[in-house]
Amino acid sequence: MIQLMAAGKPLSNIYDVIVVGSRCAGSPTAMLLARKGYRVLLVDRATFPSDTISTHIVHPLAVAALRRWGLADALAATGCPPIATYGFDFGTFMLAGAPGTADEPVAYCPRRIILDKLLLDAAAAAGAEIREGFVVEEVVAEEGRVVGIRGRSQRGTSITERAAVVVGADGRNSIVADAVAPEKYNERPALLAPYYMYCSGLPMDGRYETYMLRNRGLAAAPTHDGLTIVIVAWPLSEFAANKRDLERSVLAVIELAPEFAARLRAAKRETRLFGIPTPNYFRKPHGPGWALVGDAGYIRDPITAQGIRDAFRDAEACALALDQSFAGASSYEHAMGNYQRARDSSVMSMYEFTCQFATLQPPPPEMRQLFRAMRGNQQAMDGFARMNAGTVSPAEFLARDNISAMMAAASARNDH
Ligand SMILES: Cc1cc2nc3c(=O)[nH]c(=O)nc-3n(C[C@H](O)[C@H](O)[C@H](O)COP(=O)(O)OP(=O)(O)OC[C@H]3O[C@@H](n4cnc5c(N)ncnc54)[C@H](O)[C@@H]3O)c2cc1C
Repeated sequence: MIQLMAAGKPLSNIYDVIVVGSRCAGSPTAMLLARKGYRVLLVDRATFPSDTISTHIVHPLAVAALRRWGLADALAATGCPPIATYGFDFGTFMLAGAPGTADEPVAYCPRRIILDKLLLDAAAAAGAEIREGFVVEEVVAEEGRVVGIRGRSQRGTSITERAAVVVGADGRNSIVADAVAPEKYNERPALLAPYYMYCSGLPMDGRYETYMLRNRGLAAAPTHDGLTIVIVAWPLSEFAANKRDLERSVLAVIELAPEFAARLRAAKRETRLFGIPTPNYFRKPHGPGWALVGDAGYIRDPITAQGIRDAFRDAEACALALDQSFAGASSYEHAMGNYQRARDSSVMSMYEFTCQFATLQPPPPEMRQLFRAMRGNQQAMDGFARMNAGTVSPAEFLARDNISAMMAAASARNDH
């Protein structure tokens, strides 16, 4: 039990850490801290299994995190089909590569109703106390420091709980972030209006397909129960106009990829359309008595499907930093400052790439030349798939030397 002091007086904490929000960021944070022996309370206003508005590509590096935590086999056992290939259809040609590494070759696209429950159960198994249907209404602060939460239980009882640190894993509309008003930086406007639906009878052969269309996004991936998720997007500037006849607007995007459209016509639509635009920004993720993980601390457009992996990385890094500070190995400020710096430096290149990709603007001529040069070069196509998965950073893949090597390989092939 961590003993917190304020103005020289000990504060009585029941918990070391309270985590608000129990999906991709919150449950792993709670699990990892509970496994270290800390007393953790994990609350969420939802009751699980619970779905959320999100598509759910889980790139290989996120699968690697699940494996480190002993949960990758449990995910595979849910019957979610593995995805070994990412295909990028440019209309006249296709780039198809492997998104992962030799150690972690595949991605998954698990329904959130299944993934989030698996993560919550793992937190409970680690010893975290779970309260579902618990709505946090207020973040309690004393003498300039967060000391707990006040909320309403499933039965409607108002409850206050105290902890050394309150972690906001409560997503884009984080009540914890609202309460502490952290610095916001690298902010960009929301760029895309994404929508998705589920279809049966649309086999994907273990592929995540993306169609590179002018001014439009289209992608599909296999998920649980023989379903395929189909995702479309257009610039946010067209949000209002296209919403007037959403169905027709979605079908118009799909028709831009005639072969895919034909496959979809033979399939069965199983759900309505879901969707929500996403802003882009970073928040300072720590302060006296509080921390932020996942979307609460850093949010980016879903076009590169990085959110779950980012949430997992935050959970690991934040839990480590809190452990270091609780154990006295490092001051809270120092450990949490490292957490913030590592987060920002590891995501920055992908953040820039994501914000650029989400404009849906055609790539510049030199990039189009590079795409053509990659055709038939499996190593280059694997690299491209890995960049899109976040296995390698865009800065690394698009480094001058790598581009020169791919262009030289294409010239050599043409000479033959
Ligand atoms: C359309 C769309 C498509 C996406 N596609 C992908 C994708 O393919 N791959 C990918 O990796 N990412 C994707 N993302 C991003 C991904 O959904 C998020 O990054 C991820 O869900 C963040 O997880 P989180 O745990 O931080 O927050 P959330 O998943 O938002 O969870 C927050 C939790 O906090 C709880 N909560 C909030 N406020 C309170 C309160 N006051 N009291 C109690 N509980 C509270 C909520 O009930 C919720 O359960 C997509 C997002 C969108 C919008």
